[in-house]
Amino acid sequence: MKLTEYHYLPEGLLERPASSLYRQLDGPTLIHLPGLRQEPLFISVLQHGNEDTGWEAVRRLLKSHYSFDPLPRSVSLLIGNVEAARFNKRRLDNQPDYNRCWPQEKSGGHESEVHNTFRHVYDIMQAKNPFAAIDIHNNTGLNPHYAAINQLDNRFFRLAALFSNTVVYFTIPEGVLSNAFSNFCPAVTLECGLAGNIHGTDHTLAYLESCLHLPQLDNIPLPGEEMGLFHMVATVKVDANLDIGFGGNGHELSLIENLDHMNFRELETNTLFGYTRDKTTLPFITTDMHGKNVSGKFFSFEDGEIRTTHPIMPSMLTMDQKVIHQDCLCYLMERMDPQHSRAGHDEPLPEPTGLEGIDN
Ligand SMILES: [Zn+2]
Repeated sequence: MKLTEYHYLPEGLLERPASSLYRQLDGPTLIHLPGLRQEPLFISVLQHGNEDTGWEAVRRLLKSHYSFDPLPRSVSLLIGNVEAARFNKRRLDNQPDYNRCWPQEKSGGHESEVHNTFRHVYDIMQAKNPFAAIDIHNNTGLNPHYAAINQLDNRFFRLAALFSNTVVYFTIPEGVLSNAFSNFCPAVTLECGLAGNIHGTDHTLAYLESCLHLPQLDNIPLPGEEMGLFHMVATVKVDANLDIGFGGNGHELSLIENLDHMNFRELETNTLFGYTRDKTTLPFITTDMHGKNVSGKFFSFEDGEIRTTHPIMPSMLTMDQKVIHQDCLCYLMERMDPQHSRAGHDEPLPEPTGLEGIDN
């Protein structure tokens, strides 16, 4: 798989929706466009072929800028999985997940041709000394927009908080673009809600526009109210045979209605999660990143009411019983203090923390 590189915008490209890029592009394509400030803003779209918000935002961004005025800053645009986008799929069956194929310190043995291509992109971009890197995704389910980062650094916080007050720190899975680019520039993964939603495109477009006009990213702490920083601390699983229902309280585990509205919302202590018929045991198990049972730290049950005992932010909550049984009920995130978790501080860095199950 060869990388195609352009130093101009191919004629007619902006007229194409993601599903027809394959007619003009032969696989991953890196396009460099000059701007007034030289250090480029790196923008990655369509690493997952069915997540087209990034491409839709870039089409509008470049239509409004490029044809008339010079860009305020150079742009290097990576268009990722053109083949999967043709079929509106995250990836094709014979392809690896593109956002697991970026250079990492510990190489995992066999590397695919996608790894080789992305190593090439990484080398090209590192030499260009980018201003920042932005990798744009969509997710499934009911999630607010949020930004995710892989380093605890004021410049990363600023880049992320410009998109959303909710910022998630993660270090696994490996091979993620934003993690690789963090080696040489501030980098962020954007989760822009459901693909095809115009609000996601509007928000992403406004964000890219702001980033293009930024002269610099200061290494100065953000005021606390401008960012909630979270990291993954636990997974909640239920027994495969557990009888689950929503609303009411007649089931072994009766979850509250519209449970998925709690995704990426910071819940206060004592928030009601559901009811349990058997009033002597919790009907699910909460484990930390090392697999240790920490149920009692996060949940209480009295008179059959399951409540939180700790401020937490859940993700991946779903009303789909099959997913709950096969995968998990949810993941739990905890708030971090950005200024007490920074590299270089005396405080130890947090445990490796993952975004499993979150569609990044
Ligand atoms: Zn994605």
